[in-house]
Amino acid sequence: MYCKTITCARSGSETILLSVEADIRNGLPGFTVCGAVSQEMKESKERVRIALENAGFLMPPKRITVNLSPETKKNDRSSPDLAIALSVLSAYGYIPESFLNDIAVIGDLSLDGTVKPVKGVFSYACETEKSGIKRIIVPFENAAEAAICKGLTVYGVRSVKEAVFSLSGEKEPYERDEKAADELLSEKRPDIDLNDVPYALKSKKALYYAARAHVNVLLLGSEDACRKLCEAFGNHISEISNEEKIKYLKLKNTPDITENKDIEVHNGYVVIKSAMNSRKTDLGALYRALPEGCVTVACASPCPCGAYPDKSCICTGSRLKSHYAKLDKAVLENTAIYTHVGYGLSDILSVRESGNVFKRSPEIRKNTGRHESADVNTSLSEENKRTLERLFAGRPFSEREVMNTIKLAKVIAGTEESEVSAKHIEEAFSYCVFSIEKRAADEE
Ligand SMILES: [Zn+2]
Repeated sequence: MYCKTITCARSGSETILLSVEADIRNGLPGFTVCGAVSQEMKESKERVRIALENAGFLMPPKRITVNLSPETKKNDRSSPDLAIALSVLSAYGYIPESFLNDIAVIGDLSLDGTVKPVKGVFSYACETEKSGIKRIIVPFENAAEAAICKGLTVYGVRSVKEAVFSLSGEKEPYERDEKAADELLSEKRPDIDLNDVPYALKSKKALYYAARAHVNVLLLGSEDACRKLCEAFGNHISEISNEEKIKYLKLKNTPDITENKDIEVHNGYVVIKSAMNSRKTDLGALYRALPEGCVTVACASPCPCGAYPDKSCICTGSRLKSHYAKLDKAVLENTAIYTHVGYGLSDILSVRESGNVFKRSPEIRKNTGRHESADVNTSLSEENKRTLERLFAGRPFSEREVMNTIKLAKVIAGTEESEVSAKHIEEAFSYCVFSIEKRAADEE
């Protein structure tokens, strides 16, 4: 007898559907898994055979062949045990073949036949829903996660037997629980905000403006300092709707991101812990995949010795140059605000300004906050245009830098509830133009 079912796998940066075929016939008894699949998937045959026997299914000695397709790669991840088990049971005649139509099956098995929770169920459920399949069997513990995909009927099962009962209609589907879904989507706010970070006034301002303008930031500073700022930053990002949270959960569940400890996806913002040539993840693809309004904070060390732009930096101009050449192109192309973390003069003069200078984010943001570039030119006064001309005179610049400066000046003026003036444009300029100071070694 022959039977087929569907499961999912994470392959490279995407999630794919795998078809699991099982065939049982007379001949030399054995269990073979074929198809170009990873060793890990091939090993599941032993678990499946023992789990089925321990769960009480009699398996007369026959020749069992399981075929997984399409071809997967060496590092692909999947949890095909339960899908293989149900295909085999159906091929043995325990389950009518038609019961396995229009359903995806996810789950790993213990040797006693219990179904173990697995990682990445949300992305599997999304892919299943996208393909038009209407039902999914997942481990009991993962049911709430799968049920976030509203187009699916979800069965959460604890054992192979419960999976069989789900197919036969003897077990009810998982009842959607809005509260459980909210909990999965929401995120705990960090304990600190920018007011609690006792240094880097300029960088704190940069982050504060970025949260309001919904533009991306490049933080150049020590790992420690950057980490603390990024954590505090979370409190200045507005709360987002559940619909938007689902987009972030999808992003968090893409294989590339799950495997990469250097990238943190939060509701409303993303932290890239190293903006220097990233080998693990294509950052260009990441920026393109970001939900509308998402703010990214990319971090990088400021120079090989770590002290730049402080006078104590011992790096030569050429070392600085080759250091900055390592910055990922995608980060530079997508960044509007650059800032060096450290004790600048303004920090020393204003250590611990009294009161809470930086307001926490409002509860729900009204719109995505993207500023239309169309109104950028029209609403600038003659005086402001002259200020811009003065600042950009005699230096190479890009249109993007000019536009970002104007946008940011508007945001800065907005936080003071005043009209844009020269001082706002000057402040914005200091964030939006990336430059490293010329050093003696450069001139040689
Ligand atoms: Zn240095």
